[in-house]
Amino acid sequence: MSTDHSENPTIFGKILRGEIPCKKVYEDAEVLAFHDIKPMAEVHFLIIPKKFIPTLAHTTAEDSALLGKMLALVPVLAREQGLGDGFRTAINTGKLGGQDVYHLHIHVFGNRTGGTPLRVMSGAD
Ligand code: 5GP
Repeated sequence: MSTDHSENPTIFGKILRGEIPCKKVYEDAEVLAFHDIKPMAEVHFLIIPKKFIPTLAHTTAEDSALLGKMLALVPVLAREQGLGDGFRTAINTGKLGGQDVYHLHIHVFGNRTGGTPLRVMSGAD
């Protein structure tokens, strides 16, 4: 796997290369998680692969283990961030899926203090 991230033209590529900072939640050889710069809830972080994959639609069977690992990390990191009572996940994919940054990412967000359960990502209803 590439580790220089030079092929990644996105803002998340800059984060992976250390060119811009992030508030790190988790990191290992394959995955990085960090807080979203514009949180949509009390807690809002993103899980990204270090491998450059533009969208979920660009994944192949070869990425199954990586995708499984990212998904399995969601509840672990959510609990660590105080979201033991629940959270939402989202993967925006492509232009009509509302994706702004073309490096695959899982949004994880929720409120530690309760209140109205989160139902939608944005004003879709
Ligand atoms: P998308 O719309 O592509 O699913 O979500 C991209 C997310 O990346 C947005 O929630 C946006 O706030 C976040 N984001 C964009 N630029 C940065 C950045 O430089 N740092 C961090 N931490 N998050 C960013």
